[in-house]
Amino acid sequence: METLSERLPAVRERIARAAGRARRDPSEITLLAVTKMFPAEAICEAYALGLREFGENYVREFEGKAPATRDLAGARFHLIGHLQSNKSKKAADLFQVVQTVDSARLARRLNEAGTPLDIMLEVKLAEEDAKSGAGPADLPGLIDAVAGCGNLRLLGLMTMPPWADDPEASRPYFRRLRELGERFGLKHLSMGMSHDLEVAIEEGATCVRVGTALFGERVKA
Ligand SMILES: *Cc1c(COP(=O)(O)O)cnc(C)c1O
Repeated sequence: METLSERLPAVRERIARAAGRARRDPSEITLLAVTKMFPAEAICEAYALGLREFGENYVREFEGKAPATRDLAGARFHLIGHLQSNKSKKAADLFQVVQTVDSARLARRLNEAGTPLDIMLEVKLAEEDAKSGAGPADLPGLIDAVAGCGNLRLLGLMTMPPWADDPEASRPYFRRLRELGERFGLKHLSMGMSHDLEVAIEEGATCVRVGTALFGERVKA
């Protein structure tokens, strides 16, 4: 069995190589360790190995782990799963970054929580009904709404392409997100996961969200 301490250098190496190919500085790419469905101990272990940015998908799940992570100075927790607006107060209390803002209503609810919060806008780039995310045409209105929210700081855009075995299938989606970021003057792009992080970095990702390649397969509940 491979351990996190063995997998982490391999992931860092993948990031460095992809950055090299794209003539980018690897230090401008954040490795977000996705710890959903792993216990708080996994977060603490990753922290001990130097990781500081963590991604969780569910407010309820992270609520359970948060007490065990409270003493990890400098650690930042990103919500990367869909957020229902009735959980926005709790989310604003638990997380430093919400990457999945996809409506003006949700932005306002997060703003009303009354604490400074970094956010990203989740963009839906494929015609899949089930997926959350704002359509590209909704972005100007959404950006306007966020600008009126004094507690929210807009970092950039996030997307999750439809699942495909071939990482190259993600490239057009990543490219599109980069174009949207350029159009709206948003610097940060959260895109790329374990299987397609190289493609994402080549297309300009500033944050790759990596679970399986660091922690192994998630066991389904
Ligand atoms: C689970 C998840 C990831 C990590 O996926 P892996 O394939 O395990 O790296 C990244 N982003 C989001 C939004 C996720 O839900």
